[in-house]
Amino acid sequence: MRGLLAVAVASTTALWLALPGAVGLAPPATPPKRVFIYDTTLRDGTQGEAVSCSVDDKLKIASKLASFGVDYLECGWPGSNPKDAEFFARARTELSQEAKQKLVAFGSTRSKRSATADQDPQLRALVESGAPTACIVCKASSWQTTEILGASREDNLDMISSSVEFLRQEGLKVHVDLEHFYDGFLGGRAADGDEDYSLECARVAVEAGAEAVVLCDTNGGHLPWDIERATAAVVDAVPSEIVVGVHAHDDSGVAVANSLAAVRGGACLVQGTANGVGERTGNANLNAIIGALALKGSQICKEGIDVACSSNLHLLADAARFVDETLNLIPRKSQPYVGASAFAHKGGLHVSALAKNAKAYEHVDPARVGNEQRVLVSELSASQCGKSSRRRVDGVGCAPSIPTPYSPGDDARRPHAIDATRRLTDYTPQAAARIFGARSRRRGW
Ligand SMILES: [Zn+2]
Repeated sequence: MRGLLAVAVASTTALWLALPGAVGLAPPATPPKRVFIYDTTLRDGTQGEAVSCSVDDKLKIASKLASFGVDYLECGWPGSNPKDAEFFARARTELSQEAKQKLVAFGSTRSKRSATADQDPQLRALVESGAPTACIVCKASSWQTTEILGASREDNLDMISSSVEFLRQEGLKVHVDLEHFYDGFLGGRAADGDEDYSLECARVAVEAGAEAVVLCDTNGGHLPWDIERATAAVVDAVPSEIVVGVHAHDDSGVAVANSLAAVRGGACLVQGTANGVGERTGNANLNAIIGALALKGSQICKEGIDVACSSNLHLLADAARFVDETLNLIPRKSQPYVGASAFAHKGGLHVSALAKNAKAYEHVDPARVGNEQRVLVSELSASQCGKSSRRRVDGVGCAPSIPTPYSPGDDARRPHAIDATRRLTDYTPQAAARIFGARSRRRGW
C-alpha cells in the first residue's frame, strides 16, 4: 500500500517519559502533507439505522471505492458474524489485487475471558480473514474501562498490548482504534477524565507494534478546537513514524470539522464513511473531508495536502451516488460537494449574479467533484431566468430541480410558460428545456 509506514520502533520509552502533565499544553504540530483516507462504510457505516447490505453489495462497494482511490477499506468484523467472514473469504478471489491490499479486518482486543490473545477466537478470525491489516478497538478511557468494560485498568492495558503483539507475530499490520480517547483525554465528562490513562493506552499499543493509533470521538460530543489540541498533544508524544488517525461521529454536527481539526493538529489518517452513513447521526462524511483536503488543503497546510484519491476527485459524486444506490438509500440532496442541491441556485439575486460569474455563489467549481450547477425555476428566480433566456446570457442556463417521480405523459400537460406561482418541481426537465433553452457555456471557474 502506497507509502504506508513501517512498524513502530523497538523502544519508544524515552519519548513517552515526558508525557504526563506536559502534553495538554503542547503546541500545534506541523500538519502532515500526506493524509490517508480510511473508509469504514462497510463496517461502522453498516451500523446506521437504514443501512443493510449483502455480501454482493459489499464486494461491489469495496471494488468501487478501491478504484476511486481510498487508502484503506475496513469491510467488516469477521469474528462477529458469518456475513463478514464470507465477505473476506470471497474477497480473496473476487476483488482486484489493488482492492485486496487495502482491506482491513476489524475486531477488538482479546476478550477479558481469553487467557491469552492466541486463544481468542475473534483475533484468530482477523488472521484468517486474509486482510493485510487488522484494526482492533480498545477502551481508552479509564471510566469506560472499569465501569463499562468491567476490566481493571491494568488488564485493559495487557489486553491491548498482547492483542497487538499476537497480530504482529501473525504478520498483520495493526491499527488500534482508541475508543473514547477524547472523552478520557479531555475529560468531557468528569468521570471519564483521565488524560494519563488515555495516553497510556496509546503508548502500549505503539510499543507492542501498532503502526497507527486512531483517536476516537466515539460519542461525537467534542468540538473542533479541543480535538485539535488533544490530537496535537498525541502527535507530539508518539514517534514520528507512527500514524495518528482520527475517527469522529457526527452527534454534535461537527464530525467533518473535527476530522479536519485533527488534521490541523497533525493527524495523517482520517476514518469516515461515504455519505456519512453510520450509527445514530452518522460517521464523519468522507465526501466532504476528501473535498476539503483535496481542494482546500492549503488552508490547513501551506503546501497543500496530498490525498491519494485527489486524482479521481471528478468521480467523487459518482462514487457517492453508487454507494447510496447499492445500499438502497435515498441520496441526501443537501449533502456538501456531491448532493443534487450542492450547486443548485434558486434565489433571484443569486441567479442574476451567476449569469455574471459562477464564483459569485459557488465555493468550488462543481465539475471538480463531478457535480453540476443547476439554476432552479421558482417564484424567487423566475424573472432572472426569463431574462437569461431572452438574452441568451452566456454562462448560465436554467434547469428545474430533479423532479419528484412523474410519468412520461406529464410534459404534454405542463404549461410552456413561466408561472411564478408554481412550485419548481412542477416543471419536468423536458418542459424546462423548451422554456429556457439548453444550458449554455458556463463561465467563472
Ligand atoms: Zn465509530
